[in-house]
Amino acid sequence: MNRSPRWVEYSMALHVHSRYSDGSGTVASILRDAQKAGVDILGLTDHDTRQGAVDPGEGWYGRTLLLVGAEVTPPQNHLLTFFAKDLPHPDQPWHEIVQQIDQQGGLSFVAHPNDQGNRTLRLPSYRWTERLERGFTGLEIWNHLSHWTDGVKGVPSGLWRLLNPLRGIDRPRPEDLALWDTLASESPTVGIGGIDAHAVPIGWRRVSIKVFPYLLSLRTIRTQVFLTEPLGGQLDRNRDLIKEALEDGRCAIMAHHVGGEKGFRLWVESSDHSWPMGAELKWQDALRLKATSPVMVTWSIIRNGNVLLAKEGYFLDLPIEKPGIYRVELLRGRQQRGWLYANPIYVRD
Ligand SMILES: [Zn+2]
Ligand SMILES: [Zn+2]
Repeated sequence: MNRSPRWVEYSMALHVHSRYSDGSGTVASILRDAQKAGVDILGLTDHDTRQGAVDPGEGWYGRTLLLVGAEVTPPQNHLLTFFAKDLPHPDQPWHEIVQQIDQQGGLSFVAHPNDQGNRTLRLPSYRWTERLERGFTGLEIWNHLSHWTDGVKGVPSGLWRLLNPLRGIDRPRPEDLALWDTLASESPTVGIGGIDAHAVPIGWRRVSIKVFPYLLSLRTIRTQVFLTEPLGGQLDRNRDLIKEALEDGRCAIMAHHVGGEKGFRLWVESSDHSWPMGAELKWQDALRLKATSPVMVTWSIIRNGNVLLAKEGYFLDLPIEKPGIYRVELLRGRQQRGWLYANPIYVRD
């Protein structure tokens, strides 16, 4: 019996900076690019401000829904937040920042947890150091900008990377995936993908280029959210539907530059029930892990952080023989680039 759940999938581009902090574009111009790039939901996250919620304000701009979160930005330990109205001041103990967001019913995600900084670009490391703290919703598993700078190891590789902005970003960093698996083994931890779009111009004499234009970066790392009903109608209802998916882990990280097709689904099924991505359930006999993809992929099935098996095809259907934390990665193309990273399903003892 096929119980492929009837979720409605939307593509969210999140972790985007505008002129309200250190990005170069106005929110209005970013929204225009988001529509061109086919972004369904734009998650604006300026540093320590939600000014975008005042001007132009959350809501629909053509076919793109603007949601205004923020990046709470202490010197290290940046935290992306959505659905919290009052932003915590960054200059206080980190666990209090996390707590203040949680108390308002907001969600929080550790940004670029393994950022390494960059000597050529003179960027310090913004890695997450508060590793004993908990209470946040999840982690940014794949950050386009942070990952891109890893490959800049001098002027030649920097130039190559500038001219080939979508190359070399083929899979999330192994240490980000490992951190996710470790945290998920303790308690449910939602993985999301972000861009960190700034479109900052860099210049030399009269030559100036943008790293990267919004239109380009909005086409890179996305977070696909799977909602229980279509968006439209009341803004509050739209917000609730998206919040529920992000909070429950009903989402997947997508490399949109590898492919933007919708239609991926992952679920666990028994004879009379099914559970979506992010769900927790008790192990029982005859459970099956099922998934579908709109394109031919190589499925990599991960149990408790270890690859259980890899196979090619459009579908996945295998028995769950024991409890564990199950997630899947989808690779595609001749170069087996990483395309989709789905949130885990937690099968408990
Ligand atoms: Zn940051
Ligand atoms: Zn940022």
